[in-house]
Amino acid sequence: MNSKGQPNATAIRRRLLRWYDAHRRALPWRAPRDGGAPDPYGVWVAEVMLVQTQVDTAIPYYRRFLERFPDVHALAAAELDDVLKVWEGLGYYARARNLHKAAALIVEEYGGELPRDEKSLRVLPGIGPYTAAAILSIVFDHPLLAIDGNVRRVLSRLYDLASPTESSLRRRGTELASQRAGDLNQAMMDLGSSICTSRAPRCDACPLKAICEARAHGTVNERPGRRPKRKRPHYDIAVGVVWRGDEILIAKRPPEGLLGGLWEFPGGKPQRGESFEAAVVREVREELGIEVEPGPKITAVDHAYSHFAITLHAFHCRYRTGTPKPLGCQEFAWVRPEGLDRYAFPAANRRVLERLTTEELNEE
Ligand code: SF4
Repeated sequence: MNSKGQPNATAIRRRLLRWYDAHRRALPWRAPRDGGAPDPYGVWVAEVMLVQTQVDTAIPYYRRFLERFPDVHALAAAELDDVLKVWEGLGYYARARNLHKAAALIVEEYGGELPRDEKSLRVLPGIGPYTAAAILSIVFDHPLLAIDGNVRRVLSRLYDLASPTESSLRRRGTELASQRAGDLNQAMMDLGSSICTSRAPRCDACPLKAICEARAHGTVNERPGRRPKRKRPHYDIAVGVVWRGDEILIAKRPPEGLLGGLWEFPGGKPQRGESFEAAVVREVREELGIEVEPGPKITAVDHAYSHFAITLHAFHCRYRTGTPKPLGCQEFAWVRPEGLDRYAFPAANRRVLERLTTEELNEE
């Protein structure tokens, strides 16, 4: 304990690293246990994935990504469509677009080597303070702590802080990471995801239990203080699976913004008082300049994004007239159902596709 009665950095570090050395998870982007350096490219890709994704979900995506794009040169040379296809299902697609853009910059400006200083790293698309600190500590041993929600929670409990400021957490983090920074960061990540969890912390199994302030004060479940939850708005979206003979019309979203660069069934939000079917007809006209006739409903799919939720109402539609033009999309394609797998779709559209059973396809 220090003079304020709080656990000191040396004691925390010693306990945490001893625990990590014994219990560390063998993850594909980590350096092997018997020594050797981690692959900077692999750590970068993994940390970008882990910003919004749990470790266990990220592992198979990471393996596929590295198989397809084994180094920064391969990623820089790839088509964005291929990158998005490998990323399909992981969500938060700006991460994939930014990785792709940053790879090109790293090849052009740094000869394919990740920059080793925070300023240069932070200029690259998609690298914020968390990812920069994770890369710099794990790959280059900079004394920085990467602070995400998990680490914030561990520190808040360890020091019994109700509403810690970012700068106070950073100061404590820098002190903790003054030795074996990479291992310290990974130990914190493992502890936060496996023991000091949000809902059911397992204090009895925790290497820090003897020096944890929140545990001593009985405030574990109150730390950190909860931020008030905002209500997530909900939107209905109507889309058309537009058939012309045995082909379906799909449209590619604009390159930037939500789900940028992914393919989807055309459609949008109904206007006030407009039926879903009428909305599909209008949206397809506005987006592609063609007339369609709505048919039976295929399905309604619920999906939640970080700041809002949607219900996607999908309808079979028949193409009637007009020559499609990319008026409100990047491009479009007529594709036979068996060819749709080549394209990257957002999760809700993918679920509509799954509902297009062979039987339904044969009926069309
Ligand atoms: S003792 Fe409990 S609250 Fe404290 S760091 Fe460990 S798991 Fe978290």
